[in-house]
Amino acid sequence: MKASQFFISTLKEAPADAEVVSHKLMMRAGMIKRLGAGIYNYMPMGLRVIRKVEAIIREEMNRAGAVELLMPVIQPAELWQETGRFEGMGPELMRVKDRHGRDFIVQPTSEEVTTDIARQELRSYKQLPKNFYHIQTKFRDERRPRFGVMRGREFTMKDAYSFDRDAESAGRSYEGMYAAYKRIFDRFGLQYRAVAADTGAIGGDRSHEFQVIADTGEDAIVYCPTSDYAANIELAEALPLLAQRAAPTQPLVKAPTPGKATCADVAALLGLPLAQTVKSLVLATDEKNEHGEVVKSQVWLLLVRGDHELNEVKAGKVPGLGGGFRFATLAEIDAHFGCKPGYLGPVGLRQPLKVVADRTVAHMADFVCGANEVDAHYTGVNWGRDLPEPDLVVDIRNVVAGDPSPDGQGVLAIQRGIEVGHVFYLGTKYSAAMNATFLDETGKPKHFEMGCYGIGVTRILGAAIEQGHDERGIIWPAAIAPFEVVICPIGMDRSEAVKDAAEQLYAQLKELGVDVLLDDRGERPGAMFADWELIGVPERVVLSDRGLKEGQVEWQGRREAQATKLALSELLPQLK
Ligand code: ATP
Ligand code: MG
Ligand code: MG
Ligand code: MG
Repeated sequence: MKASQFFISTLKEAPADAEVVSHKLMMRAGMIKRLGAGIYNYMPMGLRVIRKVEAIIREEMNRAGAVELLMPVIQPAELWQETGRFEGMGPELMRVKDRHGRDFIVQPTSEEVTTDIARQELRSYKQLPKNFYHIQTKFRDERRPRFGVMRGREFTMKDAYSFDRDAESAGRSYEGMYAAYKRIFDRFGLQYRAVAADTGAIGGDRSHEFQVIADTGEDAIVYCPTSDYAANIELAEALPLLAQRAAPTQPLVKAPTPGKATCADVAALLGLPLAQTVKSLVLATDEKNEHGEVVKSQVWLLLVRGDHELNEVKAGKVPGLGGGFRFATLAEIDAHFGCKPGYLGPVGLRQPLKVVADRTVAHMADFVCGANEVDAHYTGVNWGRDLPEPDLVVDIRNVVAGDPSPDGQGVLAIQRGIEVGHVFYLGTKYSAAMNATFLDETGKPKHFEMGCYGIGVTRILGAAIEQGHDERGIIWPAAIAPFEVVICPIGMDRSEAVKDAAEQLYAQLKELGVDVLLDDRGERPGAMFADWELIGVPERVVLSDRGLKEGQVEWQGRREAQATKLALSELLPQLK
């Protein structure tokens, strides 16, 4: 590629809305251009990186036996109604209508469509296992699109879906994808960690996120430096709670009135089995005066996990809620976590919450409770009612660095990460909902055992830059750099010798299969170097009249502080 034929557009300053370094540098290097909130043009320089990321993913997916197809961005609502996600998914799902008033969605992911393909095309166990994937535009109407391509609304994802005859075979498909993901992220040249993640409604232990290590990451991950233990902190914090959760002992109260939802209502809302719906625990402490009246109470809502359906929910407490006599209302809790009204609040209770004026008063029967102090447990908290003993007492301590690792092999450390990939064993969740079956050896219809596997193609760019940059700009790993080598001739317009040498080297490198760019724009050296350091091309070769007279060129790796003088004959082995 020659710079004069390409499109290069760099900026001295990043726009004010760019908060993290990757967003700033991508804007400055002219990789992306903002079109709207969370919506970007991928400019030629950025698109080259995207294509390289895609090529590596494609190669490894194909190597692992997955088959590429392409599913539409706009999908009919009917399929999404079959799984309940059209109604259940919340505002992240972009719903649109056509000219006839028919409902469609802009795909955030493609479980429904692949399952629909499978139920039509995969009729016999003999066709299994099968793994379909595509690399396609996604749309999620994120509550807070930010950090450029890292949390866009429109973005590119590679998503794959495996179909197996039984759980054992599905386990092998899962392992195969897990291994493929390791190869993919190794090839990207990024420092990452595969961590156990919450399986939400599906259960089991087969969900892993691939997290690129970066201080600016939105996720926290815990790991044990002396063993293989690694998990998303949401899972690490949820596990003890889930493990201690007692089975329901009382009949459930159905509360159809808004504001009085029970766990069962929430389960129905989310389309989940009831036993899997404990998403939050309300923890309460109170102080009483000598008359037995409550003088000070605190209510903490501890969310134990987010989910596909509850994407925006993170583990956390509700700071500032509770204290004195004030309790959080459901609306406040929903607003605090930015959830659709009615999503949160009563989850985790098996009795309705009663909304009195703008206060929420919990009927405490069968109430799960703990304490808001480390190692302190309050049981039988009574807010004006006689209560049975709670069936669960939990330790609400957060996981902190130095805690013992759950595998007993050492202590935990915490670091921040960017979720760039996610592999997930789905079981029959979608095949059952959509009645997608194949005929087994005995000729009986059976639901497919499924898995889904995502990689955030465009997010990878942001993650790579968070990990690779300095004060001068981006430092791409060679495998995904927009160009591998840039030739910077000094005075190309004035010197025939420089021009000839540059053209010759350019042709030679192209011949060798090096992804090389010749900067023939005729920029001053300073401006030219600054551009390529900002853009982050891993290797630079400078040609000048003076150097050529001595038979030398200057080579400089993007991470090197200084250039090295090399004879032309030494250069090629250096680059290849
Ligand atoms: P997050 O927790 O960051 O919201 P997610 O768990 O909702 O991500 P998945 O449904 O697991 O995302 O999708 C698979 C992959 O798609 C993610 O691992 C991530 O790399 C990418 N991805 C998800 N949401 C976005 C987004 N808004 N912008 C860019 N990439 C995204
Ligand atoms: Mg999400
Ligand atoms: Mg996530
Ligand atoms: Mg995920």
